[in-house]
Amino acid sequence: MSQPASDDYGYRCTDRMVRERHSLKRCAEEFLRSYGGDFEFLTGAKSFLEIRGPLPVAMTRGVLNCMRSDPQGQHMLKGFREELPPRPRLEVVERRRPAWINLPSEWHYDFVYSTAKTAQVVHYLDRKRSAVRWYPHTGQFELRLFSHCKPLYKRLYHEAGEPSYLFASHVIEGRRMCPLCMRRAS
Ligand SMILES: [Zn+2]
Repeated sequence: MSQPASDDYGYRCTDRMVRERHSLKRCAEEFLRSYGGDFEFLTGAKSFLEIRGPLPVAMTRGVLNCMRSDPQGQHMLKGFREELPPRPRLEVVERRRPAWINLPSEWHYDFVYSTAKTAQVVHYLDRKRSAVRWYPHTGQFELRLFSHCKPLYKRLYHEAGEPSYLFASHVIEGRRMCPLCMRRAS
């Protein structure tokens, strides 16, 4: 399993904490010296420390935040309970989180069509089934498009490339209405 990004945690060390508490910085550096994992940010910070010396404030803050999701790091931070923001009961929250949530969406178009050059039809957008879906565990958003005749398209928002379906407010030139969509919609 890969190490979760420190962004997954609601409690954060701040630059100010690092500046005001030198012992926190020492603790972060001590943690790095003994770190044997492969989380990229931490291995980078470890090399920085070994090659260039003391860590900049922002990097120290990042290390401290990573330490809070690492068993060894947590152990080393035990003495700083007072200084650090309280850890929320994430484990419980996590288990109760749904796998996904369809966000309320308002669709401004009636038609949807494939951008493929060989495509000949335009479909009716199924407003009820089409959705923007949010995955709370990964923070990802997914566009899910349905026409009246079939599921059309699923795509995570961060994926690059040209969209393979577009919206339209009318049957575009050179295409005809999908007969199956017409039958289902009537
Ligand atoms: Zn259709």
